[in-house]
Amino acid sequence: MPLNQNIKLKLKDGSTVAVVGGGPAGSFFTWFILRYAQESGIKIHVDVFEPKNFNSTGPAGCNKCGGIVSESLIQMLSGEGIKVPPKVIRRGIDSYTLHLEHGKVVIEKPKPEQGIASIFRGLGPRGPIDSAQLSFDNFLLDLCREKGAMVRTDTIVKALRVEEGIKLSTSLSGDKVFDLVVGAVGLNAKGIEIFNSICPSYFPPSVTKTHIAEIFLGREVVDQYFGNSMHVFLLNLPNVKFGALIPKGNYVTMVLLGKNITREVVAGFLSSETVKSCFPPDTNISEITHCKCYPAINVGEAKSAFANRVVLIGDSASSKLYKNGLGAAWLTGQAAAKTAIFHGISQRDFQKWYQPVCTTLDNDNDIGKIIFNITSIMQKSSILKNGLLAMVVQEQKEPSHKRPMSSLLWDTFTGSNPYTSIFKRSLNPVFMVKFLWNIVKGQLIKKSRIQK
Ligand SMILES: Cc1cc2nc3c(=O)[nH]c(=O)nc-3n(C[C@H](O)[C@H](O)[C@H](O)COP(=O)(O)OP(=O)(O)OC[C@H]3O[C@@H](n4cnc5c(N)ncnc54)[C@H](O)[C@@H]3O)c2cc1C
Repeated sequence: MPLNQNIKLKLKDGSTVAVVGGGPAGSFFTWFILRYAQESGIKIHVDVFEPKNFNSTGPAGCNKCGGIVSESLIQMLSGEGIKVPPKVIRRGIDSYTLHLEHGKVVIEKPKPEQGIASIFRGLGPRGPIDSAQLSFDNFLLDLCREKGAMVRTDTIVKALRVEEGIKLSTSLSGDKVFDLVVGAVGLNAKGIEIFNSICPSYFPPSVTKTHIAEIFLGREVVDQYFGNSMHVFLLNLPNVKFGALIPKGNYVTMVLLGKNITREVVAGFLSSETVKSCFPPDTNISEITHCKCYPAINVGEAKSAFANRVVLIGDSASSKLYKNGLGAAWLTGQAAAKTAIFHGISQRDFQKWYQPVCTTLDNDNDIGKIIFNITSIMQKSSILKNGLLAMVVQEQKEPSHKRPMSSLLWDTFTGSNPYTSIFKRSLNPVFMVKFLWNIVKGQLIKKSRIQK
Protein backbone atom coordinates (compact mmCIF):
# COMPACT_ATOMS: atom_id res chain seq x y z
CA MET A 1 0.00 0.00 0.00
CA PRO A 2 1.58 3.35 -0.96
CA LEU A 3 2.44 5.25 2.19
CA ASN A 4 1.03 8.57 1.09
CA GLN A 5 -2.28 7.14 -0.10
CA ASN A 6 -5.15 9.19 1.25
CA ILE A 7 -7.20 6.50 2.96
CA LYS A 8 -9.35 6.77 6.04
CA LEU A 9 -7.80 4.61 8.72
CA LYS A 10 -9.50 4.70 12.13
CA LEU A 11 -9.32 2.82 15.39
CA LYS A 12 -12.57 1.09 16.37
CA ASP A 13 -13.82 -1.46 18.90
CA GLY A 14 -11.36 -4.35 19.06
CA SER A 15 -8.49 -2.44 17.38
CA THR A 16 -5.00 -3.40 18.51
CA VAL A 17 -2.19 -0.98 19.28
CA ALA A 18 1.47 -1.90 19.86
CA VAL A 19 3.70 0.50 21.75
CA VAL A 20 7.33 -0.40 21.09
CA GLY A 21 9.36 0.85 24.05
CA GLY A 22 8.14 1.32 27.60
CA GLY A 23 10.17 4.42 28.47
CA PRO A 24 8.35 7.66 29.33
CA ALA A 25 7.15 8.38 25.77
CA GLY A 26 5.65 4.89 25.44
CA SER A 27 4.04 5.10 28.88
CA PHE A 28 2.62 8.58 28.37
CA PHE A 29 1.20 7.59 24.97
CA THR A 30 -0.37 4.47 26.50
CA TRP A 31 -1.89 6.44 29.36
CA PHE A 32 -3.47 8.96 27.00
CA ILE A 33 -4.69 6.57 24.31
CA LEU A 34 -6.44 4.42 26.92
CA ARG A 35 -7.95 7.50 28.56
CA TYR A 36 -9.18 8.98 25.26
CA ALA A 37 -10.49 5.60 24.05
CA GLN A 38 -12.44 5.21 27.29
CA GLU A 39 -13.87 8.71 26.94
CA SER A 40 -14.86 7.98 23.34
CA GLY A 41 -16.43 4.63 24.21
CA ILE A 42 -13.98 2.65 22.04
CA LYS A 43 -12.58 -0.62 23.37
CA ILE A 44 -8.99 -1.06 22.18
CA HIS A 45 -6.16 -3.41 23.22
CA VAL A 46 -2.77 -1.91 23.93
CA ASP A 47 0.40 -4.01 24.19
CA VAL A 48 3.55 -2.27 25.44
CA PHE A 49 6.79 -4.05 24.50
CA GLU A 50 9.75 -3.30 26.77
CA PRO A 51 12.69 -5.67 27.28
CA LYS A 52 14.16 -3.88 30.31
CA ASN A 53 13.23 -4.67 33.86
CA PHE A 54 13.21 -1.24 35.47
CA ASN A 55 13.22 -2.89 38.88
CA SER A 56 16.88 -3.76 38.36
CA THR A 57 19.95 -1.79 39.36
CA GLY A 58 22.68 -0.77 36.94
CA PRO A 59 22.42 -0.76 33.14
CA ALA A 60 19.81 -3.59 33.07
CA GLY A 61 17.13 -1.26 34.44
CA CYS A 62 18.43 2.10 33.35
CA ASN A 63 17.29 4.48 30.62
CA LYS A 64 20.36 6.73 30.97
CA CYS A 65 19.24 10.19 32.03
CA GLY A 66 20.07 13.01 34.45
CA GLY A 67 16.81 12.23 36.18
CA ILE A 68 15.39 15.71 36.66
CA VAL A 69 11.61 15.87 36.48
CA SER A 70 10.83 19.46 35.54
CA GLU A 71 8.24 21.58 37.30
CA SER A 72 6.17 21.74 34.09
CA LEU A 73 6.05 17.93 33.91
CA ILE A 74 5.13 17.69 37.60
CA GLN A 75 2.28 20.11 36.91
CA MET A 76 1.15 18.23 33.78
CA LEU A 77 1.19 14.94 35.70
CA SER A 78 -0.79 16.43 38.55
CA GLY A 79 -3.29 17.84 36.01
CA GLU A 80 -3.95 14.18 35.07
CA GLY A 81 -4.29 13.27 38.76
CA ILE A 82 -0.86 11.57 38.75
CA LYS A 83 1.30 12.18 41.81
CA VAL A 84 4.86 10.87 41.71
CA PRO A 85 5.16 8.81 44.94
CA PRO A 86 7.73 9.98 47.52
CA LYS A 87 9.59 6.65 47.16
CA VAL A 88 10.24 7.44 43.48
CA ILE A 89 11.58 10.91 44.24
CA ARG A 90 15.20 10.69 45.35
CA ARG A 91 15.31 14.36 46.29
CA GLY A 92 13.17 17.48 45.93
CA ILE A 93 15.33 20.18 44.36
CA ASP A 94 14.77 23.66 45.81
CA SER A 95 17.59 25.63 44.23
CA TYR A 96 20.36 25.70 41.67
CA THR A 97 23.90 26.53 42.69
CA LEU A 98 25.61 28.20 39.76
CA HIS A 99 29.39 27.73 39.77
CA LEU A 100 31.77 29.92 37.80
CA GLU A 101 35.57 29.93 38.06
CA HIS A 102 35.52 32.96 40.33
CA GLY A 103 32.52 32.35 42.51
CA LYS A 104 29.18 30.70 43.03
CA VAL A 105 25.65 31.78 43.77
CA VAL A 106 22.54 29.94 44.91
CA ILE A 107 19.46 30.61 42.78
CA GLU A 108 16.40 29.84 44.88
CA LYS A 109 13.25 28.50 43.22
CA PRO A 110 11.18 31.52 42.17
CA LYS A 111 7.94 30.35 43.82
CA PRO A 112 7.33 27.74 46.54
CA GLU A 113 5.28 25.61 44.13
CA GLN A 114 8.02 25.59 41.46
CA GLY A 115 9.79 22.53 42.83
CA ILE A 116 11.50 19.94 40.71
CA ALA A 117 12.45 16.37 41.60
CA SER A 118 15.40 14.07 41.00
CA ILE A 119 14.69 10.42 40.21
CA PHE A 120 16.40 7.28 38.98
CA ARG A 121 14.85 5.84 35.83
CA GLY A 122 15.63 2.30 37.07
CA LEU A 123 16.15 1.20 40.65
CA GLY A 124 19.49 2.95 40.91
CA PRO A 125 23.15 2.55 39.96
CA ARG A 126 25.33 -0.50 40.51
CA GLY A 127 26.63 -0.30 44.06
CA PRO A 128 24.89 0.43 47.37
CA ILE A 129 21.27 1.48 46.92
CA ASP A 130 18.39 2.36 49.16
CA SER A 131 16.20 -0.72 48.66
CA ALA A 132 13.03 1.08 49.80
CA GLN A 133 13.13 3.36 46.77
CA LEU A 134 11.41 2.88 43.43
CA SER A 135 12.06 3.33 39.71
CA PHE A 136 10.46 6.22 37.81
CA ASP A 137 10.01 4.30 34.54
CA ASN A 138 8.45 1.36 36.37
CA PHE A 139 6.08 3.73 38.16
CA LEU A 140 4.92 4.99 34.74
CA LEU A 141 4.53 1.45 33.40
CA ASP A 142 2.43 0.56 36.47
CA LEU A 143 0.11 3.45 35.59
CA CYS A 144 -0.29 1.90 32.12
CA ARG A 145 -1.05 -1.51 33.62
CA GLU A 146 -3.68 0.08 35.88
CA LYS A 147 -5.27 1.73 32.85
CA GLY A 148 -5.56 -1.68 31.15
CA ALA A 149 -2.43 -2.03 28.99
CA MET A 150 -0.60 -5.35 28.68
CA VAL A 151 3.09 -4.74 29.38
CA ARG A 152 5.20 -7.46 27.77
CA THR A 153 8.85 -8.01 28.68
CA ASP A 154 9.92 -8.54 25.11
CA THR A 155 11.89 -6.95 22.26
CA ILE A 156 10.51 -6.17 18.84
CA VAL A 157 12.95 -7.57 16.30
CA LYS A 158 11.12 -7.00 13.01
CA ALA A 159 8.16 -5.12 11.54
CA LEU A 160 6.41 -5.81 8.27
CA ARG A 161 3.44 -4.27 6.48
CA VAL A 162 0.75 -6.84 5.76
CA GLU A 163 -2.73 -6.41 4.32
CA GLU A 164 -4.51 -6.27 7.71
CA GLY A 165 -2.01 -3.97 9.41
CA ILE A 166 1.56 -4.22 10.67
CA LYS A 167 3.07 -7.51 11.74
CA LEU A 168 5.56 -7.31 14.59
CA SER A 169 7.98 -10.12 15.39
CA THR A 170 9.19 -10.38 18.97
CA SER A 171 12.18 -12.15 20.44
CA LEU A 172 10.07 -14.23 22.87
CA SER A 173 6.35 -14.31 22.09
CA GLY A 174 6.13 -14.76 18.32
CA ASP A 175 4.37 -12.60 15.72
CA LYS A 176 1.22 -10.50 15.98
CA VAL A 177 -0.54 -8.07 13.63
CA PHE A 178 -1.53 -4.62 14.94
CA ASP A 179 -3.73 -1.83 13.60
CA LEU A 180 -1.39 0.87 14.91
CA VAL A 181 2.29 0.63 15.85
CA VAL A 182 3.90 3.34 17.96
CA GLY A 183 7.67 3.83 17.96
CA ALA A 184 8.89 4.90 21.41
CA VAL A 185 12.32 3.31 21.07
CA GLY A 186 14.27 6.41 22.09
CA LEU A 187 17.55 6.63 20.20
CA ASN A 188 18.07 2.86 20.03
CA ALA A 189 19.72 2.25 16.64
CA LYS A 190 18.18 -1.20 16.06
CA GLY A 191 14.73 0.09 17.08
CA ILE A 192 15.04 3.02 14.68
CA GLU A 193 16.10 0.68 11.86
CA ILE A 194 12.98 -1.45 12.44
CA PHE A 195 10.77 1.63 12.16
CA ASN A 196 12.56 2.78 9.03
CA SER A 197 11.47 -0.47 7.39
CA ILE A 198 7.75 0.37 7.86
CA CYS A 199 8.13 4.15 7.67
CA PRO A 200 10.65 4.65 4.83
CA SER A 201 10.44 8.45 4.72
CA TYR A 202 11.31 8.65 8.44
CA PHE A 203 14.62 10.37 9.04
CA PRO A 204 15.92 9.80 12.59
CA PRO A 205 17.11 12.64 14.84
CA SER A 206 20.76 13.64 14.92
CA VAL A 207 22.60 12.84 18.13
CA THR A 208 25.74 13.60 20.08
CA LYS A 209 27.56 11.81 22.89
CA THR A 210 27.02 12.87 26.52
CA HIS A 211 28.24 11.55 29.85
CA ILE A 212 26.58 10.37 33.04
CA ALA A 213 28.34 9.13 36.19
CA GLU A 214 26.77 7.96 39.44
CA ILE A 215 28.99 8.99 42.35
CA PHE A 216 28.36 7.28 45.71
CA LEU A 217 28.92 9.62 48.65
CA GLY A 218 26.43 8.38 51.25
CA ARG A 219 23.37 10.33 52.35
CA GLU A 220 25.10 12.40 55.05
CA VAL A 221 27.81 13.67 52.71
CA VAL A 222 25.25 14.40 49.99
CA ASP A 223 23.18 16.34 52.55
CA GLN A 224 26.18 18.28 53.79
CA TYR A 225 27.83 19.11 50.45
CA PHE A 226 24.90 19.29 48.04
CA GLY A 227 21.71 19.57 50.09
CA ASN A 228 18.61 20.06 47.96
CA SER A 229 20.49 22.05 45.37
CA MET A 230 21.42 21.01 41.85
CA HIS A 231 24.91 22.28 41.10
CA VAL A 232 25.46 23.62 37.59
CA PHE A 233 28.72 24.78 36.06
CA LEU A 234 29.44 27.51 33.55
CA LEU A 235 33.15 26.87 33.13
CA ASN A 236 35.51 27.61 30.30
CA LEU A 237 36.05 23.98 29.34
CA PRO A 238 36.13 22.78 25.72
CA ASN A 239 33.03 20.90 24.49
CA VAL A 240 31.10 21.17 27.77
CA LYS A 241 27.94 23.23 27.25
CA PHE A 242 26.41 22.18 30.52
CA GLY A 243 27.81 20.33 33.53
CA ALA A 244 25.71 19.38 36.53
CA LEU A 245 25.89 17.50 39.81
CA ILE A 246 22.45 16.31 40.87
CA PRO A 247 21.89 15.02 44.42
CA LYS A 248 19.88 11.80 44.67
CA GLY A 249 19.64 9.77 47.88
CA ASN A 250 23.08 8.28 48.51
CA TYR A 251 24.40 9.40 45.15
CA VAL A 252 25.25 12.44 43.12
CA THR A 253 24.63 12.11 39.39
CA MET A 254 27.14 13.92 37.21
CA VAL A 255 25.86 14.97 33.79
CA LEU A 256 27.94 16.50 31.03
CA LEU A 257 26.20 17.77 27.91
CA GLY A 258 27.90 19.34 24.93
CA LYS A 259 29.56 18.36 21.74
CA ASN A 260 30.78 14.78 21.69
CA ILE A 261 31.77 14.31 25.33
CA THR A 262 34.82 12.04 25.53
CA ARG A 263 36.87 10.57 28.43
CA GLU A 264 39.32 13.48 28.07
CA VAL A 265 36.51 16.04 28.39
CA VAL A 266 35.24 14.24 31.51
CA ALA A 267 38.76 14.18 33.00
CA GLY A 268 39.09 17.93 32.30
CA PHE A 269 35.79 18.63 34.08
CA LEU A 270 36.64 16.51 37.13
CA SER A 271 40.10 18.04 37.51
CA SER A 272 38.73 21.57 37.56
CA GLU A 273 39.24 23.19 40.98
CA THR A 274 35.67 24.54 40.87
CA VAL A 275 34.24 21.02 40.51
CA LYS A 276 36.62 19.49 43.07
CA SER A 277 35.59 22.11 45.64
CA CYS A 278 32.04 20.69 45.64
CA PHE A 279 33.23 17.40 47.14
CA PRO A 280 34.85 16.65 50.52
CA PRO A 281 38.61 17.33 50.38
CA ASP A 282 40.73 14.55 48.81
CA THR A 283 37.73 12.69 47.39
CA ASN A 284 38.85 10.22 44.77
CA ILE A 285 35.83 10.50 42.49
CA SER A 286 36.73 7.66 40.13
CA GLU A 287 36.95 5.23 43.10
CA ILE A 288 33.38 5.97 44.18
CA THR A 289 31.83 6.14 40.71
CA HIS A 290 29.67 3.01 40.54
CA CYS A 291 28.16 3.48 37.10
CA LYS A 292 29.10 5.59 34.12
CA CYS A 293 28.07 5.76 30.49
CA TYR A 294 28.25 7.89 27.36
CA PRO A 295 24.67 7.91 26.06
CA ALA A 296 23.49 9.67 22.93
CA ILE A 297 21.23 12.69 23.19
CA ASN A 298 18.78 14.02 20.61
CA VAL A 299 20.14 17.32 19.21
CA GLY A 300 18.23 17.59 15.93
CA GLU A 301 14.69 16.70 15.07
CA ALA A 302 13.50 13.67 13.15
CA LYS A 303 11.70 14.13 9.84
CA SER A 304 8.41 12.44 8.81
CA ALA A 305 8.06 10.45 12.02
CA PHE A 306 4.82 8.84 10.83
CA ALA A 307 3.18 6.87 8.05
CA ASN A 308 -0.14 5.05 7.68
CA ARG A 309 -0.62 3.06 10.92
CA VAL A 310 2.76 4.18 12.35
CA VAL A 311 3.87 7.07 14.51
CA LEU A 312 7.13 7.71 16.36
CA ILE A 313 7.19 9.73 19.58
CA GLY A 314 9.56 10.97 22.31
CA ASP A 315 13.28 10.94 21.57
CA SER A 316 12.68 8.96 18.36
CA ALA A 317 10.80 12.01 17.01
CA SER A 318 11.19 15.44 18.63
CA SER A 319 12.59 16.30 22.04
CA LYS A 320 13.68 19.41 23.87
CA LEU A 321 17.29 20.40 23.28
CA TYR A 322 19.43 19.32 26.28
CA LYS A 323 16.56 19.69 28.79
CA ASN A 324 13.26 18.20 29.87
CA GLY A 325 13.20 15.30 27.41
CA LEU A 326 10.67 13.71 29.75
CA GLY A 327 8.35 16.70 29.30
CA ALA A 328 8.76 16.48 25.51
CA ALA A 329 7.94 12.75 25.69
CA TRP A 330 4.70 13.72 27.43
CA LEU A 331 3.82 16.29 24.74
CA THR A 332 4.52 14.03 21.76
CA GLY A 333 2.93 10.99 23.44
CA GLN A 334 -0.25 12.91 24.21
CA ALA A 335 -0.45 14.48 20.74
CA ALA A 336 -0.03 11.12 18.98
CA ALA A 337 -2.69 9.49 21.20
CA LYS A 338 -5.13 12.35 20.61
CA THR A 339 -4.62 12.08 16.86
CA ALA A 340 -5.11 8.30 16.85
CA ILE A 341 -8.38 8.40 18.81
CA PHE A 342 -10.01 11.64 17.64
CA HIS A 343 -8.79 11.93 14.03
CA GLY A 344 -7.37 8.72 12.61
CA ILE A 345 -4.17 6.76 12.08
CA SER A 346 -3.32 7.59 8.48
CA GLN A 347 -0.20 9.46 7.44
CA ARG A 348 -2.43 12.42 6.63
CA ASP A 349 -3.95 12.47 10.13
CA PHE A 350 -0.55 12.42 11.80
CA GLN A 351 0.73 15.08 9.40
CA LYS A 352 -2.20 17.37 10.19
CA TRP A 353 -2.70 16.78 13.92
CA TYR A 354 0.55 15.38 15.33
CA GLN A 355 3.28 17.07 13.31
CA PRO A 356 2.45 20.62 14.60
CA VAL A 357 3.44 19.58 18.15
CA CYS A 358 6.80 18.28 16.85
CA THR A 359 7.27 21.44 14.75
CA THR A 360 6.68 23.64 17.81
CA LEU A 361 9.35 21.70 19.74
CA ASP A 362 11.74 21.79 16.76
CA ASN A 363 11.32 25.54 16.20
CA ASP A 364 11.83 26.19 19.90
CA ASN A 365 15.03 24.11 19.79
CA ASP A 366 16.33 26.40 17.03
CA ILE A 367 16.04 29.28 19.50
CA GLY A 368 17.56 26.98 22.16
CA LYS A 369 20.61 26.56 19.91
CA ILE A 370 21.02 30.35 19.80
CA ILE A 371 20.76 30.49 23.62
CA PHE A 372 23.39 27.76 24.04
CA ASN A 373 25.67 29.52 21.52
CA ILE A 374 25.39 32.72 23.57
CA THR A 375 26.09 30.66 26.71
CA SER A 376 29.22 29.26 25.04
CA ILE A 377 30.43 32.81 24.38
CA MET A 378 29.74 33.69 28.03
CA GLN A 379 31.60 30.56 29.20
CA LYS A 380 34.75 31.88 27.54
CA SER A 381 34.44 35.46 28.80
CA SER A 382 35.34 36.21 32.41
CA ILE A 383 34.03 39.78 31.92
CA LEU A 384 30.54 38.54 31.00
CA LYS A 385 30.62 35.89 33.74
CA ASN A 386 31.60 38.49 36.36
CA GLY A 387 28.63 40.59 35.28
CA LEU A 388 26.32 37.58 35.42
CA LEU A 389 27.51 36.65 38.89
CA ALA A 390 27.21 40.23 40.19
CA MET A 391 23.67 40.50 38.80
CA VAL A 392 22.44 37.17 40.22
CA VAL A 393 24.04 37.79 43.64
CA GLN A 394 22.27 41.17 43.83
CA GLU A 395 18.95 39.76 42.57
CA GLN A 396 18.86 36.98 45.15
CA LYS A 397 18.49 39.71 47.82
CA GLU A 398 15.38 41.01 46.03
CA PRO A 399 11.82 39.59 45.98
CA SER A 400 11.31 36.90 43.32
CA HIS A 401 9.50 39.17 40.83
CA LYS A 402 12.61 41.40 40.68
CA ARG A 403 15.03 38.67 39.57
CA PRO A 404 15.04 38.67 35.75
CA MET A 405 18.46 37.04 35.26
CA SER A 406 17.84 34.44 37.97
CA SER A 407 14.50 33.62 36.40
CA LEU A 408 16.10 33.24 32.94
CA LEU A 409 18.74 30.93 34.36
CA TRP A 410 16.16 28.94 36.36
CA ASP A 411 14.06 28.39 33.25
CA THR A 412 17.12 27.48 31.15
CA PHE A 413 18.38 24.97 33.72
CA THR A 414 15.00 23.36 34.44
CA GLY A 415 13.80 23.33 30.82
CA SER A 416 10.33 24.14 32.10
CA ASN A 417 9.71 27.12 29.83
CA PRO A 418 10.10 27.27 26.04
CA TYR A 419 13.44 28.64 24.82
CA THR A 420 11.48 31.20 22.79
CA SER A 421 10.06 32.73 25.96
CA ILE A 422 13.53 32.81 27.59
CA PHE A 423 15.02 34.45 24.51
CA LYS A 424 12.28 37.10 24.28
CA ARG A 425 12.74 38.01 27.94
CA SER A 426 16.49 38.34 27.44
CA LEU A 427 15.86 40.95 24.71
CA ASN A 428 13.97 43.24 27.09
CA PRO A 429 15.85 46.60 27.01
CA VAL A 430 15.57 47.13 30.80
CA PHE A 431 17.07 43.68 31.35
CA MET A 432 19.87 44.39 28.90
CA VAL A 433 20.76 47.73 30.52
CA LYS A 434 20.81 46.03 33.94
CA PHE A 435 23.11 43.32 32.63
CA LEU A 436 25.43 45.89 31.03
CA TRP A 437 25.55 47.82 34.29
CA ASN A 438 26.42 44.62 36.17
CA ILE A 439 29.18 43.84 33.68
CA VAL A 440 30.70 47.24 34.54
CA LYS A 441 30.06 46.64 38.25
CA GLY A 442 31.62 43.17 38.04
CA GLN A 443 34.77 44.70 36.56
CA LEU A 444 34.92 47.38 39.26
CA ILE A 445 34.56 44.75 42.02
CA LYS A 446 37.32 42.67 40.41
CA LYS A 447 39.61 45.72 40.14
CA SER A 448 39.09 46.70 43.78
CA ARG A 449 39.85 43.08 44.84
CA ILE A 450 43.10 43.13 42.86
CA GLN A 451 44.11 46.50 44.42
CA LYS A 452 43.53 45.10 47.94
C1 LIG B 1 22.89 12.64 29.57
C2 LIG B 1 21.42 12.86 29.49
C3 LIG B 1 20.77 13.50 30.52
C4 LIG B 1 19.39 13.71 30.46
N1 LIG B 1 18.79 14.32 31.53
C5 LIG B 1 17.47 14.53 31.50
C6 LIG B 1 16.82 15.11 32.63
O1 LIG B 1 17.43 15.36 33.67
N2 LIG B 1 15.49 15.35 32.53
C7 LIG B 1 14.78 15.06 31.41
O2 LIG B 1 13.57 15.35 31.37
N3 LIG B 1 15.36 14.47 30.33
C8 LIG B 1 16.68 14.19 30.36
N4 LIG B 1 17.27 13.56 29.31
C9 LIG B 1 16.46 13.19 28.14
C10 LIG B 1 15.61 11.94 28.45
O3 LIG B 1 16.40 10.91 28.96
C11 LIG B 1 14.90 11.46 27.17
O4 LIG B 1 14.35 12.55 26.50
C12 LIG B 1 13.80 10.46 27.50
O5 LIG B 1 14.34 9.30 28.08
C13 LIG B 1 13.05 10.08 26.22
O6 LIG B 1 12.11 9.10 26.51
P1 LIG B 1 11.70 8.01 25.41
O7 LIG B 1 10.63 7.19 26.04
O8 LIG B 1 11.46 8.68 24.12
O9 LIG B 1 13.02 7.12 25.19
P2 LIG B 1 13.80 6.17 26.21
O10 LIG B 1 13.71 6.69 27.59
O11 LIG B 1 15.14 5.98 25.62
O12 LIG B 1 13.00 4.80 26.14
C14 LIG B 1 13.05 3.98 25.00
C15 LIG B 1 12.66 2.58 25.43
O13 LIG B 1 12.51 1.78 24.26
C16 LIG B 1 12.97 0.49 24.55
N5 LIG B 1 13.30 -0.17 23.28
C17 LIG B 1 14.26 0.18 22.39
N6 LIG B 1 14.24 -0.67 21.34
C18 LIG B 1 13.23 -1.56 21.55
C19 LIG B 1 12.69 -2.67 20.82
N7 LIG B 1 13.21 -3.04 19.64
N8 LIG B 1 11.64 -3.35 21.36
C20 LIG B 1 11.10 -2.98 22.55
N9 LIG B 1 11.56 -1.93 23.28
C21 LIG B 1 12.61 -1.23 22.78
C22 LIG B 1 14.20 0.73 25.44
O14 LIG B 1 14.50 -0.42 26.22
C23 LIG B 1 13.74 1.91 26.28
O15 LIG B 1 13.17 1.51 27.51
C24 LIG B 1 18.65 13.30 29.34
C25 LIG B 1 19.29 12.62 28.30
C26 LIG B 1 20.66 12.38 28.38
C27 LIG B 1 21.33 11.62 27.29
